[in-house]
Amino acid sequence: MMYFSKLGHFHGGLKLEQHKKESLASPVEMAKLPKKLYIPVQQHIGAAAEPVVNVGDKVRKAQVIAKATDYLSAAIHAPSSGTVIAIKEHPVAHPSGKTALCIVIETDGKENWRWRKEPSPDFLNIDPSALRNIIREAGIVGMGGAGFPSYIKMNPGYKNTVSTLILNGAECEPYITCDAKIMQDQPREIINGLLIMRHALQAENCIIGLEDNKPEAFKALVDALHEDELKFIRIQRIPTIYPAGGEKQLIKVLTKKEVPSGGLPIDINVSCHNVATALAIYRAVAIQEPLISRYVTVTGDGIKHAKNIEVLIGTPISEILQQCSIDYDNVDEIIIGGPMMGFNLHNDKSPVIKTTNCILTLKNKVKTTPTVMPCIRCGECARVCPAQLVPQQLYWYAKAKDFDGTQKYNLFDCIECGCCAYVCPSNIPLVQYYRYAKTEIYAQERDTVKSNIARERHEFREFRIEREKTEKAEKLRKKKELLQNKKLKEKSGQDNDITTTKKESVKNDLVAQAMARIQQKNDSQKIIKKNVSNLTTEQQNTIEEIDKRRNQQREEKIKQAHENDNNAQRETLKK
Ligand code: SF4
Ligand code: SF4
Repeated sequence: MMYFSKLGHFHGGLKLEQHKKESLASPVEMAKLPKKLYIPVQQHIGAAAEPVVNVGDKVRKAQVIAKATDYLSAAIHAPSSGTVIAIKEHPVAHPSGKTALCIVIETDGKENWRWRKEPSPDFLNIDPSALRNIIREAGIVGMGGAGFPSYIKMNPGYKNTVSTLILNGAECEPYITCDAKIMQDQPREIINGLLIMRHALQAENCIIGLEDNKPEAFKALVDALHEDELKFIRIQRIPTIYPAGGEKQLIKVLTKKEVPSGGLPIDINVSCHNVATALAIYRAVAIQEPLISRYVTVTGDGIKHAKNIEVLIGTPISEILQQCSIDYDNVDEIIIGGPMMGFNLHNDKSPVIKTTNCILTLKNKVKTTPTVMPCIRCGECARVCPAQLVPQQLYWYAKAKDFDGTQKYNLFDCIECGCCAYVCPSNIPLVQYYRYAKTEIYAQERDTVKSNIARERHEFREFRIEREKTEKAEKLRKKKELLQNKKLKEKSGQDNDITTTKKESVKNDLVAQAMARIQQKNDSQKIIKKNVSNLTTEQQNTIEEIDKRRNQQREEKIKQAHENDNNAQRETLKK
C-alpha cells in the first residue's frame, strides 16, 4: 500500500461489494451480427446528427450515415454493411423510456468495409488540429457514460495548457468490468491512444489511474509501458472506494488538486478521459476506424454467462442478453450502467449506443427502497457525499421546489453518485429529487432563453416599427421642405422679373431724361440771335463776314495744331 502515500483523497465515499469477478472470468466475446441494427442519430451530448442516407441505400461498414450538425455534435457511422431499410422512431435506452430517431440497417453479413488504412506508427507526426479533426470525423465521444464529443476536450483552447493528462480506468461502480477488460486485453493500444491525446493536448505528464481491484489490468499496462520506457506516463493504482472514478474525485486522488465548484478540470490544467475513449481514439487515428463498436459488460442475476462482449453500436439489447443466456424468470429489472448510477431499461429492443458500458440484470436491487420516512437530520448523507454537499438541505429545497435554494447549495456539483441515498436511514430517494430539481432548472433556463429570445424579437420589432415611422416622417419633412423651397424659388423668380421691369423703366426714364437734356442743349444751341434781328442787310453781311473770318481763323488754328501734333509724334517715333 506504499503507493497510497503519494495520493490525495476525496471526502466521503463508500466501500461497496464489487461483483466484478463474474464477468472478468470469461474472455471477451464478439457479439453476433444482428439482422437489423438500430442506430440512434443522437448518442452524445449536443445536437443530434443529421442522416445523410436514404431508405434503400446500400451502406458499407464504417461509412458515415449521419453527419455532425453543430460544434457540439458527433457523426454516426454504419456499424456493418447492408441496406438502410428505415429511418424512424424506435425505443432507446433512456431513463424516460422515450423513442428517438434511428437509422435501421438490414445487415448483409458481408462486413464490407469502406476503405481502411493499415496501422501506421507515425501518428505522432500529425498536426494536433488535424488529429482533432480525425477524432471529430470518427464520431468519438466520451465512453465513460457522459458522451461528450471528444474532439472538443482535445482542444484546451488558446488560454489553457494541460499539465496533466489523466486516463480514467477506475471503473468504480460494482459489476462493471468493460474498462478493466480493455486494459487487460489492449494495453498497448490504450497507451498509444494516450500518446495521441498527449500530442493533441501538448500535455506534459500522463497518469493512468485505476482502482487496486484490477491487478491484471495494472500488470498489463505496466508491462506495455516498460516496453517503451515512457517516463512521462505513470500508471497509478488507487484505493477502491466508490466513487473514485468520478472525474473530480479521481483528479483529487491523483493530483491532490481540487476542481473548483462549477468549474472544469482544465481550470486546474488537467484533462481527464476514459480508457475506452483512448482506445477509440487510437483506432480512429491509427487505422481510421470510427466508433462503431464497444465493450459492454453483461452481468447480474439471471445471466448464466456473465462476460464482456464487443458489440456493434445499434445491436438490440435483447439479442445480447440472449447471447449471454438470460433467464428472464430470474430478472426483475434490466439496468443500463451500474447499480448506483444506472437507470432502468424500459424496452429491451433498445439498441446499444456509444455510451452503453454495462447491461445489468437484477432480481432485487442492490439497495431496496422500502417505505420512505421523514428526514431525521442524521447527517449520514453529508458524511458520505464525495462532492462535500449537504444532501439533506438539497433534498428540502428540491422537495419545496425552491430551485434557487438548491443552487445556493451547489446542486450542480452533485455527481448523482447515489452515496447519500444508499446510506439514508429514512430511505429517501435523494438522487431522484436532485435529478428532478436539475431537470426543472434546465427547463426553466430553456424557458428563460426562449422568452428572452421572444422578448428581444418583440423589442426589435417595436424598434423597427419606430425606426420606420421616424424615417417616414423624416422623408415627409424633407419632401415638404423641398416643395416649400421650390415655391419660394418660383416666387422669388417672379419678384426678380418685377425688379427688372422696374429697373428697366427707371433706366428708360433716365435715358428719356438724358435725351431731354440733350434736346434741351441742342435747342439751346439754336438760340436765335435776337440782338441781330432788327439789323440792316449791310450790317448783317458785315457780321456774317466777321463770323466767316473767325471761322477761317479757327480752322487754320485747328489745322496748325494738327500739324504740330503730327510733328511731335514723328519726333517721338524718330527717337
Ligand atoms: S441521511 Fe436521510 S435522514 Fe439522514 S439527514 Fe440525510 S436525508 Fe435526512
Ligand atoms: S448523489 Fe449528490 S448529493 Fe448525494 S452523495 Fe452523491 S454527490 Fe452527494
